[in-house]
Amino acid sequence: MIQNAKCSWDSLGIQIDQMWFSLTDDCNMRCSYCFVQKGQNYMDLKVMDRALDVLFMSKGKEKKIILFGGEPLINFKLVKTFTEIAKKKAGLFNKKIKFGVGTNCLKMDQEIIKFLKNEDFQISVTLDGKSETHNRFRKSKDGKPTHNGIIKNIRKIQTTINSSKLCCLLGVHNSEIRNLFSNCNYIFKNTGIKSINIEPVQTNHAWTKNELTYFKLNLLKIFNFILSESNKNNFFFLKLFE
Ligand code: SF4
Repeated sequence: MIQNAKCSWDSLGIQIDQMWFSLTDDCNMRCSYCFVQKGQNYMDLKVMDRALDVLFMSKGKEKKIILFGGEPLINFKLVKTFTEIAKKKAGLFNKKIKFGVGTNCLKMDQEIIKFLKNEDFQISVTLDGKSETHNRFRKSKDGKPTHNGIIKNIRKIQTTINSSKLCCLLGVHNSEIRNLFSNCNYIFKNTGIKSINIEPVQTNHAWTKNELTYFKLNLLKIFNFILSESNKNNFFFLKLFE
């Protein structure tokens, strides 16, 4: 079966460089803007196996695998199993892999940190900025604010893992556009994270002209900040809408 599939993917000349795996729809948080229909479903090992076949049979030597959810680390055992299967398969297909994980960082203990370090994971932490902004939308499953716990865990990670392996995924809600610069500034100055990926959160509100203007103004302020810091050999990075 693998042989046949290999022929058909090769003959199509398709190259897949990265694949995102939603390991679960379960989560330990209940963000008000979340679009994930929560359940307790976890990716089936057979589905995982077949998806990895497709990734590794496609052209190209270097592959990136990103785990997300829900909250993928809520089932750490599954993350470990997945990583083992992926590494084994990559070896069989003679491919190189890099792993990434998108996490809310609420469940982070030394065992997980050690594992993420050993497997050289790129870690994207979802954090919306200052506590006033973040806690407005992002509560735990039992309705508690999550900001302090996430900041504490980011610091815990940084005792073992270099900050260059960490980036922040900042969700921007239309009602918080005016605070975008101060929220980015907070992350750059208080967390040790030097790379932010800005993503507008999904709501059924279309941004108004006014909101778009504030968005542009805030982006300009962030660019100016990054530029002035780079002149002092202090480098920060910004990505929009990955
Ligand atoms: S942490 Fe992510 S998956 Fe969980 S509720 Fe918030 S947005 Fe949804």
